[in-house]
Amino acid sequence: MSGDQSHPTDCSEVLGRLYEYLDREMPDGECAKFQEHIDECSPCLEKYGLEQSVKKLVKRCCGHDEVPSDLRSKVMGRIESIREEEAGAASPAPRRIE
Ligand SMILES: [Zn+2]
Repeated sequence: MSGDQSHPTDCSEVLGRLYEYLDREMPDGECAKFQEHIDECSPCLEKYGLEQSVKKLVKRCCGHDEVPSDLRSKVMGRIESIREEEAGAASPAPRRIE
């Protein structure tokens, strides 16, 4: 069986290997499949865009490729809160921490 040729790569695999792709540690063949999936899949494209901007930001701040996990989570937390605010404009978040 050759399987479904229209979706050779699945989202969980793409997201799980995002850093391999961003760090250019992925073999060329895999890389092409990956790029193709991202081009066609908006949730993966969005996640890829976020990770890429985090990486650029960190690189600019620290001058190297290593992402300190606390900085990364700070940046990601910030992105999350911006996204929550955007979502919250339509429907307020039910959860409230006192
Ligand atoms: Zn996807």
